[in-house]
Amino acid sequence: MLTELLSRWPLIQQIKTGADGTGVESMSERTRNLRPKTDGAQVAKSICPYCGVGCGQLAFHKNGKLISIEGDPDSPISRGRLCPKGADTFELHTHPGRLQKVKYRRPYSTKWEDLDLDTAMDMVSDRLWESRERTFQEKDEKTGDLIMQTKAIAHLGGATLDIEENYLIKKFFTVGLGMVCISNQARI
Ligand code: SF4
Repeated sequence: MLTELLSRWPLIQQIKTGADGTGVESMSERTRNLRPKTDGAQVAKSICPYCGVGCGQLAFHKNGKLISIEGDPDSPISRGRLCPKGADTFELHTHPGRLQKVKYRRPYSTKWEDLDLDTAMDMVSDRLWESRERTFQEKDEKTGDLIMQTKAIAHLGGATLDIEENYLIKKFFTVGLGMVCISNQARI
């Protein structure tokens, strides 16, 4: 018993291994058994949602629940690093103060009201479609050329959109809806 206790003493371990006392030889059993919170989690590759640099992220999840978001060492852009804002992405998703409602002020109203996201999305899509139906031009009025477009709806993308999202936005809005006014704030 005493021999076993002594053999676990970091000083004895240090003497036996010749190490400098800053490695595993100085760890307690409890420390050696500690595991990172991401241990055993599934991981999905993602991109930081905040700015146009597009640093790589790893989103760790267990049983359908997000548990951590870390920098992706395989990203050629950021090589595992995230700035303080990007490193805080986990809280963006999970913070209890995260807004879950949309503030809406009806035409001529002086008050804001809360709308749930589904209602707001339905209103956006209804208005988008109504605007398209009302303003869509099949032919140019002067030349008679086929143009199939509307200039009544525009889309301005933000820096958080990645290449794939911008590709889909361009395809869907231009070819699908006939929109011509499409731009992106970051232009990268
Ligand atoms: S981690 Fe920072 S620098 Fe990188 S994309 Fe996110 S906000 Fe931009």
